[in-house]
This record gives sequence, structure tokens and C-alpha cells, in this order.
Amino acid sequence: MTGRRRKTLLLALVALAGLLPPVAFVVISWYQTVQDMDAKLERYASTVLDRADEIFGNAESTLAGMSQTLEPRCTDATYQALHRAAFESIYFQEATLIVKGVVTCNSNRSNKSSQPVVNPENLIVPGSGIHISLPLRLAQENVVSIVIHYRAADNAMFGLHLNPVLLGDPVRKYAAADQVTLAIQRSDGAILSQFGLSNALPLAEMGGNRITLKSKRYPIQVIAVGSPTWVLHHWQQNALVFGSLGLLTSALLFLLLLYLARHQFSAGASVEDALADGQFHVYYQPMIDTATGACVGAESLLRWHHPQLGTIMPDTFIAAAEESGFIVELTKWLMQRIVNDMAALLKENPGYHISLNLSPQHFDDPKLLADVKSVFGSRVSPTQIVFEVTEHQLIMNDDNKALEVLQNIRAMGTPIAIDDFGSGYSSLKYLSRFPFDYLKIDKAFIDAIGTESVTAGLVDTIVQMANQLKLKTVAEGVETPAQLSYLRQLKVDFVQGWLYSKALPADEFRAFVAANKAYMAGAGVKPRPARV
Ligand code: C2E
Ligand code: CA
Ligand code: CA
Repeated sequence: MTGRRRKTLLLALVALAGLLPPVAFVVISWYQTVQDMDAKLERYASTVLDRADEIFGNAESTLAGMSQTLEPRCTDATYQALHRAAFESIYFQEATLIVKGVVTCNSNRSNKSSQPVVNPENLIVPGSGIHISLPLRLAQENVVSIVIHYRAADNAMFGLHLNPVLLGDPVRKYAAADQVTLAIQRSDGAILSQFGLSNALPLAEMGGNRITLKSKRYPIQVIAVGSPTWVLHHWQQNALVFGSLGLLTSALLFLLLLYLARHQFSAGASVEDALADGQFHVYYQPMIDTATGACVGAESLLRWHHPQLGTIMPDTFIAAAEESGFIVELTKWLMQRIVNDMAALLKENPGYHISLNLSPQHFDDPKLLADVKSVFGSRVSPTQIVFEVTEHQLIMNDDNKALEVLQNIRAMGTPIAIDDFGSGYSSLKYLSRFPFDYLKIDKAFIDAIGTESVTAGLVDTIVQMANQLKLKTVAEGVETPAQLSYLRQLKVDFVQGWLYSKALPADEFRAFVAANKAYMAGAGVKPRPARV
């Protein structure tokens, strides 16, 4: 990703971080409130339905009992039985015997006078079990429904009057407070009782969400309707809590992203700007033949000359360039510089080579080989370039992919060095598996030479191992004549270090080469460090 796209993406993320959490939390709190309401409606409706089922169940068994025992006439026994049934439960107000459309006997009228049935609903013959007939007028005090049981043998009907308003008793008060309206309906939609928030407004005209529970035993259902005002009110309360949480989250996210953005801008993106601004420079650290003291080439190392901060060493910016992926472009630029700086010198000295460091990202770069070929072209022989890779990089990449890339590089005639050897992991595995030509012994082992450190002897082992694998050895970070003579005695092939020279700008490196040549010509092959 380029710096500009990364910057845009990060800015978009920062903006999102500010907006998303409060919006998300407000939406979540809305769903939460609606869910609370639905749960409440479900609780009310099932309480009412359970109660209705229980009361109608009582009525049914009472009526069935009368139907089994009573005569179709208003005898004393019949009247007493009706009277008992009506008082058996607080829900039943009256019990009747209807024969051929006439109220023949009634629990409230001891005079036993007959009266025609006024409400035609009360003459409906139940298919099975009971029929619940509607009162004549709805929503009036003391309005009663009648539950009817039919005895086909003599066309007798037994009825129990009950006030359906009582069905809602236990929840009426709470439902009203929660702004819930409840209705008990027959399955044909006729309302037996409605209570709670409104006992008059038609259900169809109520705007809130609703649920319907059907009875499994009787042809009735309970509908509970919520109030939009309640939802809105509670949502506001929830939103306040959730919204504050959202704001807090967004503040934290915002700070985090701001930190990340700053970090990225100052590292990844500014490396790009610095390259465009010409702040990068390539330095060359001479590599010396240990036996003769002759220069054999150099390792190219990047330097960043920052206008305010001065020289920034690669340890600081390479990681950022790798993280942003910009390292691929930076290395391509480095290769171009090597061609510009060193093409002539390399042509003049066919035994010289310039090495450069690869990064893990190069193994994911399908253009690497094409770039190498197009940059060096015919101006620099591929045999005079060395690519350095560390064990660490190979570990970070899929083995086979890295192997393929390295094999392709090798196929061009370009040697490969394993860098910082010994600083990493299962070193042997990588040594035998990958096609290396050089092994660069990590500076830590050179530092240990002549000390009491436990690593002091390891340099011998590493050199032996490299010899067995027929790898040329390079000792890095050689600073003292004692280290040099030890390495010479071990027959390490090349050395690189401040004893000979630090990394130099191109023209100074060319001067170093000239001085080294003059020295070699004048002094024969006498091995002596040439300090420039
Ligand atoms: P490296 O590849 O191991 O490079 C050797 C480092 O050791 C260089 O540090 C060099 O200046 C330093 N050095 C050489 N001789 C001596 C010595 O006698 N004493 C001491 N104390 N140090 C010595 P530098 O240039 O700071 O580079 C550090 C690391 O940055 C390099 O380690 C390399 O991993 C990375 N790097 C530098 N340039 C590039 C580049 O172009 N591409 C990539 N991918 N990495 C680079
Ligand atoms: Ca290196
Ligand atoms: Ca190294």
C-alpha cells in the first residue's frame, strides 16, 4: 500500500472511530429496548392466558358435572345444584339451565320462573366441550360471558356466567403502568375482555409492537400490545447509558488510531517522503580478503540524512520501511544507486562484488527477479552482486517460497550470503537447505574472540561447519588486530569491520579502493590492515 492510500485509510478509520461506536450503541440500545418490550409482552400474555385456561377449565368441569346429574327441569335439586355451582368460584356469578331456548332454571331466581334467552349467542350449540358466548355489550362493568355446555340427549344446555373482566385481575394494574394493553379474544376475533393501558381503543389502531398467544385447550387467544411511548421513553434512558459507553469507546478508539496514525505517518510515510526528497544515501563498507588484505568489494548500507535530525541509522528506519512494505521500492532505488555508483568500478575489477541486504518482503514480491534484471541489465554482471539474507527472514517466510526465490537468484549467477549467522535459530537446518555461497559470522562471535565469554570458542565451530558445507566465510564487525589475527589463523576468507573501514560514501569508497590497490602493489602481499 502506498503512503497516501495508507494515510487516507487511516484518516477514514479515525473518522469512523469517532462516529461508529455512538451510532452503533444507539442502534444496539434501540434493539435492546424493543427486546425488553417484547419480553414484557410475552410475560403478560402468558400470565393472562394461563389464568384464562384455568378458569375456563374450571367452568368446563363444573358444567360437565351438572350435565351428568341434573334433570332437564327446575326441581329443587336442580336449583340447589345451580346455586352451588355459581358460588363455587368467585369467577362464576350465575348458573343456568336452558331447555329448548328457554331459561328454565337460574341460580339467582328461587321462584324458578322461566324466561326466554335474550342473547342469541347463548343459544349456540358447542361443537365439543364448551362454547364461550359473548356478552351483549362489551367493556361495561359487570358484563358477563356465558360458558355453555350442551347435552344432546334432551336438548338441555348448562351455562355459567362469568365476568371476563376478572380474567385480567392480577396483571391489570401492572400492565397499565407498563403501558401494555391486553385483550382476550375468541378465536373468531371477538373480544371477551380488554384491559391495561386502554380498554376501549380498537387493537388495530394501536401502533406498538404486539404478540399473540393461542390457547391449546380453548378457542381463545391473548393479544398484548406495547406502547410506542414506553419504548421511546425507555430507549432514551438506555441510549443515555449506551451512548455514554459509545462515546467512551470512540474516545479510546480515536486515541488509539491517532497514535497508530502518527506512528505510521512518522515512520512508513516519511520514509517515502525522504526518498522522494533525496535524503537517502548509499554507503559502502569495504570487504577485505583476510589472507592478503586486498579489498574484494563492499556491502551497501543505507543512511538517511535527515535535515533536522541528522544521520539516521538503518536500525531505526528499516523496520518501518519493512512494515509498510516500502522496503521493496527502497531496495530497488538502492540497486539503481549501486549501478550508478559502482558499474565502472566493478567493470574494472571483475573480482569485486557489492552485496546488498534483502528483507522478508522481497520473498513476497513477484517482481523481484524482473527488477533485479532490469536494474542491473548489462551494466553490472549478476556475478558481481551478492544478496544477503538472514535466518530470521527465512523463518518469517514460507520455506518453499523463499527457496524458490533464492534458487532463481542463484540461477542468474548471483551468489547468496547468509547474514548474521549464529544470531538466529536452527542454523544448521537453513545452511543445508538453502543455496548459500557465503556465511557471514555475526559480530557477537567476533566480539567474543579473546574473551572469557562462553561464545568465544563458537567462532571455530562455525568456521568448521562452513568449511564442511563449502561456504566462504566472512567475519563481520572486526575491530581489533587481535580479532583479525585469530580469524586469519582460522582461515576465515573475508573480514569486514571498522579495523579496516566504516561504511563510506561512494566517492570515499572509490578512494579507499585506490589506496588499497596502491598499498597492495607497493607492499606486495604483506597482510596489513589499510586504514582509510
Ligand atoms: P548488517 O547487514 O548486519 O550490517 C552490518 C552492520 O554492522 C552495519 O550497520 C555496519 O555499519 C555495522 N558494522 C560494520 N562493521 C562494524 C564494526 O567494526 N563495529 C561495529 N560496531 N559495527 C560495525 P548499519 O549500517 O547500521 O546497518 C544495520 C543493519 O541495518 C544492517 O545490518 C542491515 O540489517 C540493515 N540494513 C542496512 N542497510 C540496509 C538495506 O539497504 N536494506 C536492508 N534490508 N537492510 C539494511
Ligand atoms: Ca548485511
Ligand atoms: Ca550482518
